[in-house]
Amino acid sequence: MSQPLPSDTTSARLPLRELAQQLRRFLPHAALLDTPEDLHPYECDGLSAYRQLPGLVALPETIEQVQQILRLCSAHRVPVVARGAGTGLSGGALPRADGVLLSLAKFNRILEIDPLNRTAIVQPGVRNLAISEAVASQGLYYAPDPSSQIACSIGGNVAENAGGVHCLKYGLTVHNVLGLKFVTIDGELVTLGGKTLDSPGYDLLALFTGSEGLLGVIVEITVKLLPKPERAQVVLAAFDDLEKAGHAVAAIIAAGIIPAGLEMMDNPAIRAAEDYVHAGYPVEAQAILLCELDGTNEEVSEGIAQVRTLLTNQGATEVRTAKDDAERLRMWAGRKAAFPAVGRISPDYYCMDGTIPRKHLATVLKRISELSREYGLQVANVFHAGDGNLHPLILYDANKPGELERTEELGGKILELCVEVGGTITGEHGVGMEKINQMCVQFNSAELTQFHAIKTAFDPHGLLNPGKAVPTLHRCAEFGRMHVHGGKLAFPELERF
Ligand SMILES: Cc1cc2nc3c(=O)[nH]c(=O)nc-3n(C[C@H](O)[C@H](O)[C@H](O)COP(=O)(O)OP(=O)(O)OC[C@H]3O[C@@H](n4cnc5c(N)ncnc54)[C@H](O)[C@@H]3O)c2cc1C
Repeated sequence: MSQPLPSDTTSARLPLRELAQQLRRFLPHAALLDTPEDLHPYECDGLSAYRQLPGLVALPETIEQVQQILRLCSAHRVPVVARGAGTGLSGGALPRADGVLLSLAKFNRILEIDPLNRTAIVQPGVRNLAISEAVASQGLYYAPDPSSQIACSIGGNVAENAGGVHCLKYGLTVHNVLGLKFVTIDGELVTLGGKTLDSPGYDLLALFTGSEGLLGVIVEITVKLLPKPERAQVVLAAFDDLEKAGHAVAAIIAAGIIPAGLEMMDNPAIRAAEDYVHAGYPVEAQAILLCELDGTNEEVSEGIAQVRTLLTNQGATEVRTAKDDAERLRMWAGRKAAFPAVGRISPDYYCMDGTIPRKHLATVLKRISELSREYGLQVANVFHAGDGNLHPLILYDANKPGELERTEELGGKILELCVEVGGTITGEHGVGMEKINQMCVQFNSAELTQFHAIKTAFDPHGLLNPGKAVPTLHRCAEFGRMHVHGGKLAFPELERF
């Protein structure tokens, strides 16, 4: 691991062995893991560059058990990290050696499907795709579709405010969740929202969505379901220049078209995906765009014609429309498999996630390729172009001394570039451990202080996922990127290294 986790818990703690004894009083034997061979599978999430064996792993099956675990941990000041499917790419579910990893894997039931109200109530461990599969026979689906949807949990999606190909048109997780239940660190069960579109009081539901396990443990979620569109069709456009593809994205949106998905891949990503799934991609192209439209038959036909003309006018060297659903799925298969495809051509890769205003796509992509040359590390780009949500994949070899550190530095530079053009350091993967230093670039110390105040209101002793997502001001000072406002450095008493 490149940086030690800061320990934010200060009071004397119960040794984990004694905590385990107390947990065993109400957890079945198989629901508490403490031997190294049982703990190893939990040592990292999707950001495998960071690893840490958890102190204990608890696998509760009921809300009451979650409440009891949290009450005990709170009383004895033991840190708790919630874990969904562990597919997160920012180290958000990285365990702590001195704490409990609380897995929601056994919360895997769909509790209610209400087709009239178009809602479903699900437990947090339910896989994203399983929701759409369960309601497909009723002509419904759950819209946010992260590429990891076959594996990731809806609880993890809420905690990360996950996005996906279809979020350009249908919104992120935050726009598709109506209510949830969570357990506070003191074991209290709290309900936010419900089955209706609005609820009285402050919008704590939005606050919770994307809170990365820092405020409470989510134990139930009410999601919106949408009717499946009559037809969906995708257009693939090839470009001999990345900037032209970037301008084409801006032109589509500027024309008032809202595609169901608008994705871009650059040449290294195209080649890797083609080699892996044989999607029929033009491997000589410098960039391809996949633009999907959905709706009624007439809407789709009209939109596809308009998009084809636009892409041709923007200099596409080839514009291909999927003839049937099989071809549409084949075109998407390359995009959906792009991450594992890149994993085949490099010993390791580091997936970045930043968002920029769409109009800067072309310049930012150009700058990323300059940085890639400067650092001598190849970068493959595959991303949600319509949302301006970049996913540069930095290819590296962890076995080469210093290469991971250079990769992290390059990743940091890319995120800072996103901030420079008015964007953000996260699009959908969260901050976790990975981007915690760049939070010091994105936010000033007054803003970070407010974030800590919110955290403290829910979790006064900082026991839920400590050391993630929101950096301490000391950390920012050490990172050397504390904001200077009006020529005055905040907290001048802090030592700078
Ligand atoms: C190949 C691949 C493709 C991906 N594509 C996308 C994509 O297109 N879009 C996208 O958004 N993401 C994508 N991801 C990232 C990841 O799948 C998402 O962030 C997902 O939402 C994580 O869900 P999870 O169940 O795996 O959560 P985990 O990794 O287990 O946890 C993620 C965070 O949520 C917290 N958490 C989990 N469950 C709970 C709970 N019940 N209560 C409170 N906190 C909780 C954890 O503490 C952690 O901070 C991809 C990942 C991979 C490996």
